[in-house]
Amino acid sequence: MPEISQDVFESLYPPNPPATVEELRERANSGGQKSLLKNKKSNSTPVPKSPRPRTSSVTFSYIPDEIFLDESFTHEQYGYKRELGHRIFVNRSLHLENIKFYGFDMDYTLAEYKSPQYEQLGFNLVKERLVSLGYPKEILLFEYDPSFPVRGLWFDTLYGNLLKVDAYGNILVCVHGFEFLKHSQVYELYPNKFLQLDESRVYVLNTLFNLPETYLLACLVDFFTNSPQYSGNEDSTGIKCGELFMSYRSIFQDVRGAVDWVHIQGDLKSKTIENLDEYVKKDPRLPTVLSRIRESGAKVFLLTNSDYRFTDKIMTFLFDFPHGAKSDEPHRDWKTYFDIIVVDARKPLFFGEGTILRQVDTKTGALKVGSHIGPLQSNQVYSGGSCDVFTTLIGAKGKDVLYIGDHIFGDILKSKKIRGWRTFLIVPELVQELHVWTDKCQLFAELQNLDVTLGDLYKNLDSSAKEKPDISKVRTSIRDVTHKMDLSYGMMGSLFRSGSRQTFFSSQVVRYADLYAATILNLIYYPFSYMFRAPAMLLPHESTVAHEQRFIMDAPMISRTRSRTLGTLNVDTLEEIATVNNTNDKEGNISVPHTRPETPRSVTHTHDEDYSDEDSDDNKKQH
Ligand SMILES: [Mg+2]
Repeated sequence: MPEISQDVFESLYPPNPPATVEELRERANSGGQKSLLKNKKSNSTPVPKSPRPRTSSVTFSYIPDEIFLDESFTHEQYGYKRELGHRIFVNRSLHLENIKFYGFDMDYTLAEYKSPQYEQLGFNLVKERLVSLGYPKEILLFEYDPSFPVRGLWFDTLYGNLLKVDAYGNILVCVHGFEFLKHSQVYELYPNKFLQLDESRVYVLNTLFNLPETYLLACLVDFFTNSPQYSGNEDSTGIKCGELFMSYRSIFQDVRGAVDWVHIQGDLKSKTIENLDEYVKKDPRLPTVLSRIRESGAKVFLLTNSDYRFTDKIMTFLFDFPHGAKSDEPHRDWKTYFDIIVVDARKPLFFGEGTILRQVDTKTGALKVGSHIGPLQSNQVYSGGSCDVFTTLIGAKGKDVLYIGDHIFGDILKSKKIRGWRTFLIVPELVQELHVWTDKCQLFAELQNLDVTLGDLYKNLDSSAKEKPDISKVRTSIRDVTHKMDLSYGMMGSLFRSGSRQTFFSSQVVRYADLYAATILNLIYYPFSYMFRAPAMLLPHESTVAHEQRFIMDAPMISRTRSRTLGTLNVDTLEEIATVNNTNDKEGNISVPHTRPETPRSVTHTHDEDYSDEDSDDNKKQH
């Protein structure tokens, strides 16, 4: 397969290209015999012209087994899409024009920490802390391995396992230390390969800050499980060494405590500040994006859990360019890019009861005495507070606010669920995820071909069949290719999926993040009048059946379609009859206000959440 760049790939194979009627019909009517790829070769070039739909259980269809440059792939043909690295992806439609406030988290949102050196730093500091607490010095030999952990895993504190689970808690991957457990081992520990999200037992490693501890937990469990001086206890809940017992829960608590210590009292912040170039990404587009948001008429606020001193150092670094928002403008202090600045926010607490709102003395970094009750000033910095107080003071309604953060729980889930804010999740891992998705298209194509082969083996067989096709080779191949695909993302696979199954993290992104992208800088590529429109989520009976496929029902069915005619009667006539019946009431006839529901003459299904009040009112007035 020739090497091509992501950008070239994107322009050649944009997601969801429309298929022609002929192509869909050919595929749909092929009875599983015809692969689109095999049939669509022209000049020996495979052309994927059918849509690659979003499905809850993705079938990796329609991806070519070879990639060639083909000038016939144009934006005109497939709809304009921004280049892959600049895209913002949409779960729920959102019209930027309706957003009056853009709120930003800082850590991993405005300030992206460089991977893997930042995780490496955190990992080393936590190791040192654990040794100072009495953990064996040997653990200092562990080095952070970025190919192992993935965000969103669950740590089961009872059995000391890292689990990758789907939306419902079904276990997709289970690893004890560095050992991946087999199906039978997983069943032994977890009946039905399922675990409930019980917060007294399970810790969800939600954030990018959790990556070092994810790997450290694996290192420690592996070390204690496999070192000769330690042995497991009878019920698999911990480790014994002579008279000493250490539960996996206690190891977890020690690691969690050490991580918090490193973040709050330890050296993580000071080492970050001392080596900002080493640990923090900086981009001259940042002042431009923030400035353009305000030029569009919206307000910009910063809402971070970090304290003022740290925030000030990081933000000063991020805006440390000789120029301002434009190359010919002078440098400005970072605070001038924001209308409101809130530090020590203590999200997710901020979205609930919150804390006292206080003002920060920006000269000393100290908090001023007393709680702040007046209007929020644009040149001040505030500490704490609650969403209730904050939104009242700035005069925002929930849907006026687009909050942009990286923490699926603290930033996105809580702000959406409790406050109805529109949400934009930053997922820096998308860069790597999209790279694998496009770079490993050969594997996706192999899987599709295997699906076709499997369909062929059962072709012409129905319930009368006595013969049993040998599917063992295909099954093994499907398993091997899926495994290769998973490993292309790293030891624990993709952040979003395991084979064709979506992860717990994925389900939360779909549910709570209206938009998501690798970086906030991608906002620069969209006008502030932009209507982000969500693609349809297709179910298997939709993603594998073409609209044009002929489907004749055996038995006549009652039509549930309401249109201008109903049976032999016109709807208007029926509704007139209903009206006449009502007027008969005066003569003593039994009457009901409506004999049947009227056929709606205006839009009643609000699948697109982002019509403004004005749009809806206009709609009502017209009808
Ligand atoms: Mg953050």
